[in-house]
Amino acid sequence: MAQCQRCGRELAPGSAVCEGCGALQQPPPSPPSYVARGPANPGNRYPILRFAQTIIRVLAWISLVVGPIVGLVAGARNGFGGAVGGLIGGGIAGALYWVMLLAYAELISVALDIEINTRTAAEATAHLAQRQ
Ligand SMILES: [Zn+2]
Repeated sequence: MAQCQRCGRELAPGSAVCEGCGALQQPPPSPPSYVARGPANPGNRYPILRFAQTIIRVLAWISLVVGPIVGLVAGARNGFGGAVGGLIGGGIAGALYWVMLLAYAELISVALDIEINTRTAAEATAHLAQRQ
C-alpha cells in the first residue's frame, strides 16, 4: 500500500492526491532504460564475428603445435641437422602465426567492446537529454 509522500497516510490505490493533506503524489521514479536492461549482452550480436573469432583462436593453437612438427618432418630429409633446423624454423613460424592470429582474435573483441561502449554511451546521453 502506498503512503502519502508528505504526511505518510495510506493512499487509496491509484490515487494521485492524499485524502488527508491534499498533497499531490509524484509518480515513483522509473530507472533509466539503459540501467534497467543491465550491461549490454554481446552474445546475441555479430554471431559471425564471434564464430570467426573462435576459429581464429583454434587456428592459432594449431599453428603453434603443427609448425615445429612440419618443420621437423620436412627438415628430416636432410639428416639430423636439417631436422633440428626445421624444428627451430617451423617453431618460429608457428609461434609467429600463433601471435598474429591471437592478436587478430583480440582485435575482434576490441571492435565488439567499442560497439557496446558506443551504444551504451549513446543510450545514456539520450536519457540525459530527455531529462533536460
Ligand atoms: Zn498526506
